[in-house]
Amino acid sequence: MASFTLHGISVSRGIAIGRAHLLAPAALDVQHYLIGEEQVEAEVYRLQHAIVTVHKELQTIWSDLPKDAPAELGAFIDVHALILSDPMISDVPLDIIRNRHYNAEWALVTQIDELSAQFDEVEDAYLRERKADIQQVGERVLKVLTGTATALANIGSGDGINAQMIVVAHDISPADMLQFRNRSFSGFVTDLGGQNSHTAIVARSLDIPAAVGMYNASSLIEQDDWLIIDGDAGVVIVDPSPLVLAQYRERQAVQLRDRKKLGKLKKTPAITVDGTEITLLANIEFPEDCAAALDAGAVGVGLFRSEFLFIGRTGYANKLPSEDEQFESYRRAVAAMKGRPVTIRTLDIGADKPLHAAEQTALNPALGLRAIRYCLAEPQIFLTQLRAILRASAFGRIKLLIPMLAHAFEIDQTLAMIEHAKLQLRDAGQKFDPQIPVGAMIEIPAAALTLPLFIKRMSFLSIGTNDLIQYTLAIDRVDHEVAHLYNPLHPAILHLLANTIAAGAKAGIPVSVCGEMAGDTKLTRLLLGMGLREFSMHPAQILAVKQEILNSDLLKLKPKTAKIMRTFEPAAIIAEVEQLRLL
Ligand code: PEP
Ligand code: MG
Repeated sequence: MASFTLHGISVSRGIAIGRAHLLAPAALDVQHYLIGEEQVEAEVYRLQHAIVTVHKELQTIWSDLPKDAPAELGAFIDVHALILSDPMISDVPLDIIRNRHYNAEWALVTQIDELSAQFDEVEDAYLRERKADIQQVGERVLKVLTGTATALANIGSGDGINAQMIVVAHDISPADMLQFRNRSFSGFVTDLGGQNSHTAIVARSLDIPAAVGMYNASSLIEQDDWLIIDGDAGVVIVDPSPLVLAQYRERQAVQLRDRKKLGKLKKTPAITVDGTEITLLANIEFPEDCAAALDAGAVGVGLFRSEFLFIGRTGYANKLPSEDEQFESYRRAVAAMKGRPVTIRTLDIGADKPLHAAEQTALNPALGLRAIRYCLAEPQIFLTQLRAILRASAFGRIKLLIPMLAHAFEIDQTLAMIEHAKLQLRDAGQKFDPQIPVGAMIEIPAAALTLPLFIKRMSFLSIGTNDLIQYTLAIDRVDHEVAHLYNPLHPAILHLLANTIAAGAKAGIPVSVCGEMAGDTKLTRLLLGMGLREFSMHPAQILAVKQEILNSDLLKLKPKTAKIMRTFEPAAIIAEVEQLRLL
């Protein structure tokens, strides 16, 4: 096949070279044909055999679960095994083959569609959820039947052959992305997605090259095709010529050498040329990420996205993590950070991080009942989390961060809930830090324009540029069709940022940036020039940002940044931001 190049959105830097591992939904490319009477028993056998194979697969996955795997994983596999044994799946499709003479794949898909339609009618949300399980089990059997893609769970960890694989999919949900955390792949390519979708953020946290918004990559790329992801350019080269391959291998080697050099900065304090100390913090999704944060020299956690403890639990009695389970996760994070501060953001659920995908009904979920709005509407869920965080605060330095606040009454209600949780703990004789600092995410333009409300009530601010850009520029951060409009350098964004940083400094309360802008080395000097002193980002970005800081002189940056704030022409802003890097 001739080589060709696909263009999309780069979400993670670096070069990946490997073979395509397609995660195409098997149901989409199923063949439909009628078989002759004489083929019926062979076709029945083929389906039975596939079902037995999947049973064995599930058993293998079950027995290979690591000891520290969350308990619900085992239950999740049990549910799938039960579904697979149910006559609705193990017998009815066989009857369809015998009576209607459908081929095995068609018979199976017909029955899965029929069951799914029945589940859509069910009132009970828990039962409705089981539809996804049935579909996943169906997918597994189909994959065995068609022999197209290896089931993901079959791919072991380790860096042998898998390190050479690049995952190609139409889309990967943040929950599915979690499955990749413990497996070694060299890159990701998806048809959908934007620069700051949560899927992209998780991909970046895995620190491997990824390209999203590739439109039809998953149908153009074939299983085992050789691929190069040029993460810096957002380009995927399919079946490259030997010459191109050699050039990229060379570039990859140079990048690896550069990374090694950066490794030497781990223990160096982040101090600018003029002697200003800058705080570099880590964004994490799970307590286990603290190891990477410390390894990169983070002086604390600036954003623990606690919602990742809640999502991806579908298939298992759709239960939320209990207070004790949450407490254990938060306590492990503070313990792992060994005295350094850990900022835990309360549940930021909704939009592209639904608790249960099936429950996503809002027409415009990014503007719907997400984050603090959800928590205030579900006081028991919120109180449970607040108690768990407060209890963990007895074991180390914890700060509470509240997402998506816009109204004074939301702040007041939230603070009242925190007091209520403290009272409950006092009554129960539980220890916690009574002085726990509470801060607000500034990620809705309304918040950035009413800072006195926040400064009066909160002990610190953290700017969530991902959502601030989404809401200010009115572009869905996960919609690849408007991804080209996602512009951190839009003057509106720069003004909201600079005003927030200045207001915090004037009032003497700390302000950090924890959105993706904080980890973009092209913007480090701009943010420093605006007066930012605290950056929170994925551990993988910390050393590169530190290098930028070590070479920055605030005395030179300030006047140049002030000039940028007076500039409105996009081309001129870009040119001036680039010039900051030459100072
Ligand atoms: C943000 O919005 O910038 C942010 C840090 O939060 P999240 O990306 O989790 O919405
Ligand atoms: Mg946000």
